[in-house]
Amino acid sequence: MSVQKAETKKEVYNPYETAIKQLERAAKTMDLEQSAVEVLKYPRRVLTVAIPVKMDDGSVKVFTGFRSQHNDALGPFKGGVRYHPNVTVDEVKALSMWMTWKCAVAGLPYGGAKGGVIVDPHKLSVGELERLSRGYFQAISTIVGPYQDIPAPDVYTNAQVMAWFMDEYSRVKGFNNFGVVTGKPIVVGGSLGRDTATARGLSFVVEEAAKKLGLKLKESTVAVQGYGNAGMYVHRFLEELGAKVVAVSDSKGGIFSPSGLKYSEVAKHKSETGSVVDFKGAKNITNEELLEAEVDILVPAALENQITDRNASKIRASLVVEAANGPTTPEADDILWKEGVTVVPDVLANSGGVTVSYFEWVQNLQNYYWSAEQVDSALKQKMVAAFGEVWNTSKKYSVDMRQGAYIYAIGKVVEAMRQRGWI
Ligand code: NAD
Repeated sequence: MSVQKAETKKEVYNPYETAIKQLERAAKTMDLEQSAVEVLKYPRRVLTVAIPVKMDDGSVKVFTGFRSQHNDALGPFKGGVRYHPNVTVDEVKALSMWMTWKCAVAGLPYGGAKGGVIVDPHKLSVGELERLSRGYFQAISTIVGPYQDIPAPDVYTNAQVMAWFMDEYSRVKGFNNFGVVTGKPIVVGGSLGRDTATARGLSFVVEEAAKKLGLKLKESTVAVQGYGNAGMYVHRFLEELGAKVVAVSDSKGGIFSPSGLKYSEVAKHKSETGSVVDFKGAKNITNEELLEAEVDILVPAALENQITDRNASKIRASLVVEAANGPTTPEADDILWKEGVTVVPDVLANSGGVTVSYFEWVQNLQNYYWSAEQVDSALKQKMVAAFGEVWNTSKKYSVDMRQGAYIYAIGKVVEAMRQRGWI
């Protein structure tokens, strides 16, 4: 039997410390009382679980999992579960705090949570992965539930894993509980439109930002970094709005065509060859060149820390819309702000995913399922409203939209805590 240690990874960068710094910075700008900051610094509960899994070779391996529940002043906890070898308890705590802000920004009646298991899922068989998933969910079943905490997919977890989670919880309870997780397959309570929700939501935000900045989308050019679930659909939806996507990339490199890249053709090329690179009629470029391309709108949709103090001053786009989580460093934020570049932050720009998760949960609780059109129009309403709140807050405090989003979210959570008598 082998036990995986919870914190063997030496960390230089501690995301939980970053999350606290961000909280303190926003709290200072909004002159928030210290007692509220103290409450918000710490998750209300962090559960660590040991998950013994029978491996295919007959041995037993014990994995370590976490669930951090940051704050539930606005409603039940909500947040994904990630399977990754580098998961740490501090990463999970930070991500749970960021979920509190994201749900508040998106106008959802949820608090923030996050879960993680230290594992490389690619090294497990399907059977081992199922036993690990059921074991993890059983271990956290006392603190999750449709009215308590509703997990969802994150890095290396998917609809199948959610189906196992839901089934395990239903077995523990003795009856079907579709509403305990979101991001499920359609046939067991998933929502239409969930797979494209992040990009769809982002396209509504781009429309709003363009109106504010006087950008005409039909005359605008776009570069998208990353061509996965988020980036590929961003290409599709921005093309549908009439914008010209001239550059896209993935981990193997990028492509550029001044006359525009057609979504259907690039997506086909990517599915046939495994990459966007070497697309006929386009020039191959590097990811650095993509970020610095002469475009109106830049959408980072790949990894964190892509726009840094090294390349921020070379960004030519006037609007950066973050599909990825954390693609811009704080130093780069300051540079872009000084240069007049508008950055629509991740907590707002990619919140379409959690918003449609919320719709999935609502459908599960009502046991009544919506059409794709209903999902789309409700998503638009939520994204437009969230954009307006963040925009107005950033204007009120003369800060960038990231600060505006934090101030708006923290203000809302603090108001709920005050009304509930917590502070
Ligand atoms: P994904 O794994 O489907 O796609 C990631 C893409 O990025 C792939 O095309 C990959 O080739 C590319 N990539 C990797 N390294 C790169 C590099 N160095 N340069 C350029 N491209 C690179 O992931 P996803 O679901 O599309 O998520 C992308 C980002 O969006 C992540 O930060 C994720 O947290 C965020 N996000 C996604 C969703 C969602 O619903 N998919 C929701 C919220 C946030």
